[in-house]
Amino acid sequence: MSPLEVEIYAIIKRMHKKRPKTEKAELELFCDIAWSMAVKERAKYLCAKCGKLAVNSHHIFKRQHKNTKWDIRNGVPFCGAHHEFWAHNDDFDIKQEYVKFIASIRDFKTMSELYIEAHKTAHFSIADMIHIKNLLLSYIEKEREG
Ligand SMILES: [Zn+2]
Repeated sequence: MSPLEVEIYAIIKRMHKKRPKTEKAELELFCDIAWSMAVKERAKYLCAKCGKLAVNSHHIFKRQHKNTKWDIRNGVPFCGAHHEFWAHNDDFDIKQEYVKFIASIRDFKTMSELYIEAHKTAHFSIADMIHIKNLLLSYIEKEREG
């Protein structure tokens, strides 16, 4: 196991006292954390909105859209305040500002592709999850190497 995998398993252990029941559930949890890490690593842990420390990775298309849940293009790093009170704010004006902001950081082609992918039904096998896990791990490693 690589040091990065050890690091991620330590986070899982800290967050979840009980070990996930199935291999797939554990892989999904691993990918959740690796995805969040990859999104922040790409931005050097800076909030996309204010440049402060990013503690959260925000899904542009909600996590419920499983097909884009672990797609790095679907993630934006935010500080706690911008994630909770801005990106997830239902106020009409703030929502409009947020949508404009997303359009300024993701080109139309990427957003269109993500939209299509997000609305497809996802069927991930264990082999698929291992593939996603390895993609995320190598992405993080590459980012850390600089
Ligand atoms: Zn911020």
